[in-house]
Amino acid sequence: MRCVKCKAQAQVEVRRHHAAFCGPHFLEWFEAQVERAVRRERMFGPQDRVLVAVSGGKDSLVLWDVLLRRGYRASGLHLNLGIGEYSQQSQEKCEAFARQRGAELLVVDIPSEYGVGVEGLAELAGRVACSACGLSKRYLFNRVARERGFDVVATAHNLDDEAAVLLGNLIAGNVDALVRQSPVLDSGHPGLVRKVKPLYRIAERETAAYAVLRGIDYVLDECPNSVGARSLLLKEALNLLERDAPGTKQSLYWNFLEKLRPLLRAASEPVALRSCLHCGQPTTAEVCAFCRMTERVAHKLRSRVVAPAQAGREPVGARSGPGPDPA
Ligand code: SF4
Ligand SMILES: [Zn+2]
Ligand SMILES: [Zn+2]
Repeated sequence: MRCVKCKAQAQVEVRRHHAAFCGPHFLEWFEAQVERAVRRERMFGPQDRVLVAVSGGKDSLVLWDVLLRRGYRASGLHLNLGIGEYSQQSQEKCEAFARQRGAELLVVDIPSEYGVGVEGLAELAGRVACSACGLSKRYLFNRVARERGFDVVATAHNLDDEAAVLLGNLIAGNVDALVRQSPVLDSGHPGLVRKVKPLYRIAERETAAYAVLRGIDYVLDECPNSVGARSLLLKEALNLLERDAPGTKQSLYWNFLEKLRPLLRAASEPVALRSCLHCGQPTTAEVCAFCRMTERVAHKLRSRVVAPAQAGREPVGARSGPGPDPA
């Protein structure tokens, strides 16, 4: 197999594009795909401050790497979820990445802020871990972005993620979620920061190849709560289709974005957002779901006479990361 650009030995095959590339030309192609997504969807420009949600996994560090290389004003935000060794390693990978590049990294330590990690929040609030975790991420990404004056939050959802979420929403007939599923979520409220997904054109195996070729050191372990997750089952099903029919994921997601979603949007009512009475963040209820969850948890922790949760939430204690490497 030869590189379609220079005819050297190919290192990465992109079957859905009927293409293969040598290392340097793959990296060039990859960055061009991200840039194309950013421009085509008008995600942000060179002057905008972009807050990249970084978990320490390959996709988010790859996204941050590409944006920094392209000259965007991209800072990282890492949430320490308080999930034992996994969270400790994840934070270390983010800090090392930021140090090597002299990039700004903000960190919110959920156990220090709210008394327990996301698993504890879930247990005390009567939710499953991923539900408490997802709610915390959505809330804190927006809150930190707003408080720190960022124009946009970028997450590393890739084509595989988006296709699996879409399939799950179609199976469940979750119309509200289908209307919201997009590479760009515009703000419908002054307190809501735009959210964008610059990797939506890129497959997961391509971010892995990019990480290897660039020597990006990321956390290899998956979160222990992801074992048996339905999203993994959906990804497996799509991988099976993709194996025999390359391009299936792309067709599914892009056809949805171009043909189905506009019809759903036109038929849907806009959601009315207001400010949470307790924290001021956008919500559809009087008090937002995150405040309800953390207040319930703080109450339970107090009644157990465990070390009190630091329920004061003004401002969220995002601290700056280690900054440039002194060496
Ligand atoms: S798998 Fe882990 S990181 Fe992902 S949502 Fe669940 S608890 Fe959070
Ligand atoms: Zn080449
Ligand atoms: Zn609130």
